[in-house]
Amino acid sequence: MKVKTLVGMEVHLQLRTKSKMFCRCAVRYGAPSNTLTCPVCLALPGALPVPNRDAMLMALSLATALGCEIAQQTKFDRKNYFYADLPKGYQISQFDRPLGTGGKLEIVTEKGVKSVRIRRLHIEEDVGKSVHGKDVSRVDINRAGTPLVEIVTEPDMNSPEEARAYLNALRTLVHYLDISDGNMQEGNLRCEPNVNIHIKTDDGIVKTPVNEIKNINSVRHVEKAIRQEVDNHVQAFRERGAAIADEPRCTLGYDDKNDRVFVMRHKEEAHDYRYFPEPDIPPIHIGAAWRSEAGDRVPELPWTKRERFAASYGLNDYDANALCRERPLAEYFEAVVKAGCAAKPAANWIVGDLGRHANVANTTVDALGIAPHRLAGLIRLVEEGTVARQTAVKQLLPRLLEADSDPAALVEELGLAQVDDVELIEREVRAAAEAHPQAIADLRAGKNKAIGAIIGFVKKQTKGKANPKIIQDVLKRILEES
Ligand code: ZN
Ligand code: MN
Repeated sequence: MKVKTLVGMEVHLQLRTKSKMFCRCAVRYGAPSNTLTCPVCLALPGALPVPNRDAMLMALSLATALGCEIAQQTKFDRKNYFYADLPKGYQISQFDRPLGTGGKLEIVTEKGVKSVRIRRLHIEEDVGKSVHGKDVSRVDINRAGTPLVEIVTEPDMNSPEEARAYLNALRTLVHYLDISDGNMQEGNLRCEPNVNIHIKTDDGIVKTPVNEIKNINSVRHVEKAIRQEVDNHVQAFRERGAAIADEPRCTLGYDDKNDRVFVMRHKEEAHDYRYFPEPDIPPIHIGAAWRSEAGDRVPELPWTKRERFAASYGLNDYDANALCRERPLAEYFEAVVKAGCAAKPAANWIVGDLGRHANVANTTVDALGIAPHRLAGLIRLVEEGTVARQTAVKQLLPRLLEADSDPAALVEELGLAQVDDVELIEREVRAAAEAHPQAIADLRAGKNKAIGAIIGFVKKQTKGKANPKIIQDVLKRILEES
């Protein structure tokens, strides 16, 4: 059975502004309930909303970075519906003239780079929050009016992995633009994937209904929920055949404890939100001055940086991608290289060894406290052969993490310098050969694995400090003697 998976994504992103979208209330998480409200965000009669300039510019910078076509004139609309967390009865959103249309976002998966097309990008306000207790539910309006950007894609993602890559790429981008925390766990990036499959049959292509999954709180769960939903569509086709194409679309939820998607409601009739232009906010003309001010906020973008790192530092895609995922890390890497060491080993140290330390400490590499010139110094010591790499990883790095010490001085102090004394090393290699005659015989027979016994012996005798290149040279000579 030939199955094509189609996933589109709708993301609501909270902008990191000081105040709300249409009033002066602070945007702050964790304040006592209903303390961050005013007549505007409560929609009391006579109160007038005024768009937040900073939020407009943040959204414009995102639209610019995504390559959207930016509307000459944009406007706000009321989206009418009643819900407990929306006591004012409508949400100010954008309907037929969104801020941006078109555009694309590049994603990186194990299979390479591809583009996901953006359908539209608009601004709206967040709603309040229902807080459910044991016997009673309460409503907290603090969050109502927080600026959101809604970004809708075309169904261009063809696997759960691509959906995850899209969310990661979007988070990276909003971090680069410094407009949002983009954190799913904290709810400032919320996403609703829509999923269906196309099945090729003898009578043509059967398209399953496009179902939307809500309330997923981590990127990992997005991937699992989509995988689950795709399986459900395949299963439904096996059971009911082409008839599933006419079944109603569903809104689904995801139960992460049981890794299961479940039906919340059927979308038999389209919701009628009775959109109409927000009468209290005149249409907004987006002229050259706004465009260039938004453009000034766009730094070198992750995909451009990635390409530059690969081209000018000779890094592979994996390293370039890993280094460019966050801007401070990319800047740290460049500072280390600038402080005087080769780029490739710098990438290896930062992505590999330091990355592991950062993971354990639950922080980022640039925040570990090793100033760029100290890391560059350490890398130079290894590259010049003054100290063995393993010694540097196991003994020097922990000391550099502990205190603001100089790597060269530490090598002196701890006596970690690599032993380059050929005579001494030759003595140890010959001793090793005598102790392990079978290993020597195996090596002569071309069984290269046997080298471990010899190197292990010499390293033990020299406390790991013998220059591995010299060990190899001496051993080669011994093997050639008959
Ligand atoms: Zn307010
Ligand atoms: Mn929305």
